[in-house]
Amino acid sequence: MATAHAWRDAPRAHADAVAERDDGVEDLVVVGAGLSGLAGAWLFVQHAGRPVRILLLDALAQPGGHAQREEFTSRSGRRVVAYGGSQSLDSPSLFSPAMNALLAGLQIDLARFPAQFYDTGWTERHGVAGNALWFERGTGAGTLVRRTVGRTPAQWLPDTPLAPPAQADWLRLLEGGGPRWAHLGVAARRSRLAAMTYREFLLRHARVHPALAEVYADRTAGYFGVGIEATSALDAWALGLPGFDALALGEAVDARLSPSGRQLKASRDDYVYHFPDGNAGLARALVRALVPDALPGQGMEALADGTLDAAALDRPGAPVRLRQRALVTGLRHLGPPAQAEWVEVRYVDARGVSHVVRARQVLLACWHRVIARLTDELPAAQRQALDDQVKVPLLYANVLLGRWHAWQRAGVRSIQSVGGFWSEAALDFPVSMGGVRCAQSPDEPIVVHLDKVVLGAPGRPPREQAAAGRAQLLQWRFDELEQNIRGWLHAALGPYGLDAARDIEAVSIHRWAHGYAYEYMRPWDRHWPRGPLPCEHARRGWGRVAIANSDAGAYAYAHSAVDQATRAVQELLPQARLPAWHPMPGPNPRQIGLG
Ligand SMILES: Cc1cc2nc3c(=O)[nH]c(=O)nc-3n(C[C@H](O)[C@H](O)[C@H](O)COP(=O)(O)OP(=O)(O)OC[C@H]3O[C@@H](n4cnc5c(N)ncnc54)[C@H](O)[C@@H]3O)c2cc1C
Repeated sequence: MATAHAWRDAPRAHADAVAERDDGVEDLVVVGAGLSGLAGAWLFVQHAGRPVRILLLDALAQPGGHAQREEFTSRSGRRVVAYGGSQSLDSPSLFSPAMNALLAGLQIDLARFPAQFYDTGWTERHGVAGNALWFERGTGAGTLVRRTVGRTPAQWLPDTPLAPPAQADWLRLLEGGGPRWAHLGVAARRSRLAAMTYREFLLRHARVHPALAEVYADRTAGYFGVGIEATSALDAWALGLPGFDALALGEAVDARLSPSGRQLKASRDDYVYHFPDGNAGLARALVRALVPDALPGQGMEALADGTLDAAALDRPGAPVRLRQRALVTGLRHLGPPAQAEWVEVRYVDARGVSHVVRARQVLLACWHRVIARLTDELPAAQRQALDDQVKVPLLYANVLLGRWHAWQRAGVRSIQSVGGFWSEAALDFPVSMGGVRCAQSPDEPIVVHLDKVVLGAPGRPPREQAAAGRAQLLQWRFDELEQNIRGWLHAALGPYGLDAARDIEAVSIHRWAHGYAYEYMRPWDRHWPRGPLPCEHARRGWGRVAIANSDAGAYAYAHSAVDQATRAVQELLPQARLPAWHPMPGPNPRQIGLG
C-alpha cells in the first residue's frame, strides 16, 4: 500500500527510476492475480493454440486479490480455515456459459456443495437457528433481542428499547402494512419506487416512526455498498426489506434495478456455494491449474486441504509464473500501439527495486483507477471513464472462538447491530471439505465473522461515500478494533456465558480499502440502464493490451471477474472461440426476462 500510494503521488519518480531488465520475454504479462487475472491467464493457456509463457504480477503477498484464505490454529491444536474476503459463489443459476465452462474446466462441481459439503441441518441440530438484534447504547452497553425459532415479532418486539409507537409501526410493517397506491398501476408504482430512496419510502410513504429508519439504516450496504438513505426503494424491495406487500409489485425483474438488485430478484439459488476459505477456493483452483507444483493433490477436497508452496509459484523456466509483491507502475508499447510488436511493463519488487519486463501482449486485471495512472497512451475521456470506478471500502474481521456454548444458549447464529460499529457478527458457514471440518460441537473451535461496509459520508452520492469511507478505514488502529470486538461480543453474549478473555483465541482484521466494484444505481447514475455505460468505454483495449477485472463489468462478483477475463482474452486472441460472457453489468438481461 505504501509503495502504491507513493507512486500515485509521484508517478514520474517511478517512471524515471533506474530499472533492471528481466531476462526472457513473455507471451503475456498479466497485471493483477485476483480471480480475473488468474482466470485470464488460464483462458489464455487454454485458447492460445500453442505453448505460451505467462508472467502474472501482483502487489499482494498471496494470490487471489479479494479472494483471500485465512488459517488459524486453535489452542486445542485444531486447524481452522476461514475466508478473509470474497465469500461465496452467488446465484450460480444466473452464471454465464463462460463462468460455467471455467468451473467445469477446473473440475468444480457446484452440485457437490448442497449435496456433500454444506451441512444444511447444522444450525437446527446445534440449536442456533435464530438470529438476534443488538441495540447499541454506547460502548459496552446495549440490549440483545433474540429472534429464536418460533418467536413472532409480537413476542420479541417488547424486548427492544424502542418506544411503543415505534414498536407498533414495526409490527405493522412486518405484518405486511405499507402504502397501497391503489390509484396507480404496477408499472407506475415501480417507477415511483425507482425514483426515491428506501429511507424516504419508510418515512414518507410507509409513515413509520423515525426510529425504524435507524433500525434499517445500513441493511442495504452489504449488497449495494450504501445505506438506505442512498439505495433506491426498488432495490430495497428486491432485497426483501419490508413495506412493499400491499403494493403487489409482482415477481418480474425490473430493468431499473441495480445489477445486484436484478440478481437478487431473479435468483432462486440457496446461499450454500461456499468453500471453507470462501472464493479463495476458486482462486486456488486456478493457481493449481496454472502452476500444478504449487498446490498438490486433485479434486475439490485437496483445494481445501493443501498448503500453497509460495516458492513454486515463481520458478525460473516454468511456463506460468506468479510473482507476488510486485507493484506495476508503468506500461508502454515499443512504438505506436497499433503497430508495436512489444509492450514494456515496469514494476517495483518487494525490495523496492524497479524492473522492466517485455511482453507480446498484456492483460490488465488490476483496478480501473490504477490503469488510468499506468500509461499515458490513453485519451483523456477513457482515463476519465476509468476513474469512474470508485471501489466500495469494507471491513471484515475473523474471531477464533475456542468454544461457543454462549451462542447455543442464546439460540442464535448471527447478531445484527443497530447503531453499533459492526453491521453483523455470525458463526461461520457450516462447510466441511476434505480434511477441513466445521465444528461438530460447541466445544470445538469456530470462527465468528464480523463485517461492515464503511459508509464514509451518509447522504452523499455513493462514490463520495466510498472515498470518505476509505480514508476512515485506514485510520482505525488494530488494537482499537480488537478492543471494540472483544467489548461487543462480551456485552452481547456475556449473559449467555461468553467470556471474551477465555473464549477469544485470535482476531484478524481485513481492510478492503478497494473493495466492491462500483455498481450503477438509480437515482445516482442517469445512464443506468440505457447507457452508454462508463465501464464499456473504460475497458476498451488498445494496441496489444486488454482490460479485465470486475471493474470492467461494474459488478462486484466473482462471476463478473471471470466474465470480464473471458471478454478481454477474446480480444487478445481474436481467432479463438471463447464461451459467451454476460455483456452488461448484472445477469444476462435475456435470461431474466429483460431482453
Ligand atoms: C470483502 C469482499 C467480499 C466479497 N464477497 C463476494 C461474494 O460473496 N460473492 C461474489 O461473487 N463476489 C464477492 N465479492 C466480489 C468479488 O470477490 C470480486 O468481484 C472479485 O474477486 C474481483 O476479482 P478481480 O480479479 O476483478 O479484482 P481483485 O480481486 O481486486 O484483483 C485485482 C488485483 O490487482 C492487484 N493490483 C492492483 N493494482 C496493481 C498494480 N499496480 N500492480 C500489481 N498488482 C496490482 C491487486 O493487488 C489485486 O490482487 C466480494 C468482494 C469483497 C472485497
